[in-house]
Amino acid sequence: MEDLKNIIRDINDFPKKGIVFKDITTLLSDGKSFHRMIDLIAHRYIGMKIDQVVGVEARGFILGSALAYKLGTGITLVRKPGKLPFRTLRKTYDLEYGTDTLEIHEDAFVAGSRVIIADDLLATGGTMAAVVDLVRECGAEVVECTFMAELEFLEGRKRLPDGKVYSLLKF
Ligand code: IMP
Repeated sequence: MEDLKNIIRDINDFPKKGIVFKDITTLLSDGKSFHRMIDLIAHRYIGMKIDQVVGVEARGFILGSALAYKLGTGITLVRKPGKLPFRTLRKTYDLEYGTDTLEIHEDAFVAGSRVIIADDLLATGGTMAAVVDLVRECGAEVVECTFMAELEFLEGRKRLPDGKVYSLLKF
């Protein structure tokens, strides 16, 4: 796993002075690493009953769609405000660098669907906590929140459902 961790680069002072941003684009653009990362995460869910994958805009779409393909499910999009065309539920939340709002189509799931939510990175957990609320309000059951990487020192998983958080790479 160290090789996958090492390919992610640190960008100092992005998007603000004092923040060290984990740039996962270097992992995504390397074919072997990308393939391995998806296989490792998908392996965890193969054989489980998963009805749908949810991807969080924007980098969560990348992991989410690859996982959905691997698991033979569809992908539901959680998007920034004003992007989804049908009626939506929305949630405003705090994140590491301010506040943000996310939306989901109100008819996204068949009631009781078992879903995995995918995003690139878990930092403070504010984003994923909002998505968990949206998914549950739409009547689905969250099986797990899954991430390519986690900044453990920010303790984001404390804000998420107990025992339902997985990250492949821990910093
Ligand atoms: P949180 O809400 O504080 O957990 O922040 C997570 C969200 O912000 C995710 O959607 C990430 O895409 C983004 N994010 C926060 N910090 C980083 C980082 O260091 N690298 C990449 N994405 C980040």
